Amino acid sequence: MVALNMAIDRNTYQQILEECRAKGAGLVAVSKIKPVQDIMALYELGQRDFGENYVQELVDKQAQLPQDIRWHFIGHLQTNKVKQLLPFVHLIQGIDSARLLQETSKQAGKLGKTISCLLQVHIAQEDTKFGFDEDSLEALWGDMQVHAAAYANVRVAGFMGMASFSDNPDQVRGEFRQLKALADKYLPSGILSMGMSGDYHMALEEGSTLIRVGSLLFGAR
Ligand SMILES: *Cc1c(COP(=O)(O)O)cnc(C)c1O
Repeated sequence: MVALNMAIDRNTYQQILEECRAKGAGLVAVSKIKPVQDIMALYELGQRDFGENYVQELVDKQAQLPQDIRWHFIGHLQTNKVKQLLPFVHLIQGIDSARLLQETSKQAGKLGKTISCLLQVHIAQEDTKFGFDEDSLEALWGDMQVHAAAYANVRVAGFMGMASFSDNPDQVRGEFRQLKALADKYLPSGILSMGMSGDYHMALEEGSTLIRVGSLLFGAR
């Protein structure tokens, strides 16, 4: 069978890699909804970090793909799905509540593992996006000191955020700066995951250390 969709954009991939290299940032290729063949095409160019939004899709894909892929979970994670994800996940980027972080720690403990996580901060104007605000983040930080055992099997490695879908660049830049300021306050040398196809240039300018790019690499979804 001939694949009808134009797999991946190699030139764009190389160009984005160059931009990341110049800033010392990493690239997660967001492969949600895209077939394993497209992931393999990018894998063959050397890409190892891939991002998925749905637990079942990640579980199914990882079984068909090389085991040295580092899977990033970037979607909204329900507490009852954590267990399924833990055997395969490299970094859970979308931790958006204390309860989810605790559940992740609990399930990781059962597997004798420590799981790296990013805390998702709500920076966009849209209220459909999940995440901590400054107050709930402060509260979590306090709770992690007082109830350290509840978080013993997670490692908070940094922060993640999504800017508004806005054509006002000042808006988007302001949101990235807000996230960068929080990251500097709590974990100055941690991972700062921000920037997608439409705004990764600006995210890199504002201090992103990890961008998550899907449609520019794999085509529109
Ligand atoms: C889908 C998605 C991306 C990638 O989006 P593109 O605009 O296709 O680059 C990045 N981050 C998250 C959290 C996503 O859900």
